[in-house]
Amino acid sequence: MNHPLADADSAPWWDALERGQLLIQCCTGCQRLRWPARAICNDCGSFEWRWIPATGRGTIASWTVTHRSAPADATPTVVVMVRLDDQDDIFMPGFVDGPDDGSGLSIGLPVNVGFDEVAVGSDGWRLSVLRWRRL
Ligand SMILES: [Zn+2]
Repeated sequence: MNHPLADADSAPWWDALERGQLLIQCCTGCQRLRWPARAICNDCGSFEWRWIPATGRGTIASWTVTHRSAPADATPTVVVMVRLDDQDDIFMPGFVDGPDDGSGLSIGLPVNVGFDEVAVGSDGWRLSVLRWRRL
């Protein structure tokens, strides 16, 4: 497995995931938050920004359940899109705790962020992804 291709803007975010920390980019010009990482602020045009810890709280905005036909014993996978409490126009995808068929999910359901380490590379890098926890 290859390490995700992180660029200069997104590398701190991937590094934070490895440490079990959720960061979000904050424009130092207008304080607007943004994700995914990018060099320029869409609101004020500033190239100045910093990473800040996100609250790790949000609500379910949508989800999808993926069913695979092979292998025969494959379980469905639920992927959610979470609207962050930090700013309501920021959505982050991830897995979610709970039944594999997505039952019990609803729009607006509150969640907290969690992390899953899904791979460890031969050179020691670790890949973590978001796993949202239902409240
Ligand atoms: Zn800005």
